[in-house]
Amino acid sequence: MYDKTIAEQSRALASGEISSVELTQTYLDRIRQFDGDINSFITVTESLALEQAAAADQRRATGDAHAMTGIPVAHKDLFCTQGVKTSCGSKMLDNFIAPYESTVTGKFRDAGAVMLGKTNMDEFAMGSSNENSHYGPVKNPWDKSAIPGGSSGGSAAAVAAQLAAGATGTDTGGSIRQPASHCGITGLKPTYGRVSRWGMVAYASSLDQAGPMTRSAEDAAIMLNTMAGFDNRDSTCLDHEVPDYTATLNNSLEGLTIGLPKEYFAAGLDSEVEQQVRNAIAEYEKLGANVKEVSLPNARLCIPAYYVIAPAEASSNLSRFDGVRFGHRCEDPKDLMDLYIRSRSEGFGEEVKRRIIVGTYALSAGYYDAYYRKAQQIRRLIRDDFLNAFKECDVIMGPNAPTSAFDIGSMSNDPVAMYLSDIYTLSVNLAGLPGLSVPAGMANQRPVGLQIIGQHFDEARLLNIGHRFQQTTDWHQKSPALV
Ligand code: GLN
Repeated sequence: MYDKTIAEQSRALASGEISSVELTQTYLDRIRQFDGDINSFITVTESLALEQAAAADQRRATGDAHAMTGIPVAHKDLFCTQGVKTSCGSKMLDNFIAPYESTVTGKFRDAGAVMLGKTNMDEFAMGSSNENSHYGPVKNPWDKSAIPGGSSGGSAAAVAAQLAAGATGTDTGGSIRQPASHCGITGLKPTYGRVSRWGMVAYASSLDQAGPMTRSAEDAAIMLNTMAGFDNRDSTCLDHEVPDYTATLNNSLEGLTIGLPKEYFAAGLDSEVEQQVRNAIAEYEKLGANVKEVSLPNARLCIPAYYVIAPAEASSNLSRFDGVRFGHRCEDPKDLMDLYIRSRSEGFGEEVKRRIIVGTYALSAGYYDAYYRKAQQIRRLIRDDFLNAFKECDVIMGPNAPTSAFDIGSMSNDPVAMYLSDIYTLSVNLAGLPGLSVPAGMANQRPVGLQIIGQHFDEARLLNIGHRFQQTTDWHQKSPALV
């Protein structure tokens, strides 16, 4: 049953073919058997999971069931989960037990989903490889010498290795789509404001957005049904109708116009990745879609703009970790300055410090106009590029990353090379748009996804487009052989 989708498991739970306790136990056993090596979980909440599973079985018996009732899922370790360690992949929060529940995880809890545990991630969601975790790197289940992608690498690896039926992730600049692509699973970054950020540890607040990471687009629709919606505790969460995302999965793609940005198929893109992406697009033509070249002329500016804006917001968000109110505190501080300096120096890792320094510099008097304001102006140009392109097409397709997953350690000493690998994902966050990655083949023996970018609030259409592809291809059904 662990190799089934959420939709299939939900039906099996409804018919009584399996109980949630049995299903949950199966995943807990697999985590014990395989995760020592993969390292996708930071915390496994075994007894809580079995308690929730028993409650879900009871709830199903009374006929009060939701599609997610009794389904075992994993949450990225930046969602606050009441009474459970919430580390954000950092030594700073290694001792932090969240006193309250985030909106997203609370919605899953209320729907009767089972929480298996909290997944590994790049520290404070900063990274593209999951090598920046205080808890050690996550291995890609398809090839353990490869990174799983980041920052939601633990969630992606857990779903790919079938250690959870689905997982939550967050995407500030690609952290759902890119690890989904590298691990051969489906990942959706919703429109900014679609899902509440309340109770998520903030990285870059104007870019962060939570979304589902699953085996199939149908499962992503089921999870998004639970996650999406207005929340008055998050002032950037939008009060916009939530459709049933499963209702339109089978809509015809006849007449759909797909835009291919010429800037996305240019130098720097690995030829095998390009081939798989082009094969996937050819599949869409068979399904009745038309393809058209479009242009996103400012696409190349997304890296400098993002790597000013995200660190600027991070430097402000991370100022709350002062050794007084949250997390790590140094031993025997001499005075208040010593407390601040040593607590932060000891608690944060290298990449987080680098971003705080860059962000503080970009926001400081005299540099604000040269860097931060300029980056915000570029952000508007990037958004306008997309809006112009969408006058000519319904959705945009392209790769998620220039290559398939690279080897662990191969880029860890070159932060700028790692930043450059985010070229195809960052713009979507800067423009607040939704983006979906669906498995589309193998490149250099490692999985590769197709990225589908939609207009604001077009999640239902993206999931429909992903689902139709998954009806005619079987890349999403493949799974790594674990030993
Ligand atoms: N790789 C990007 C970064 O390091 C994106 C991370 C994310 O989306 N959380 O900032």
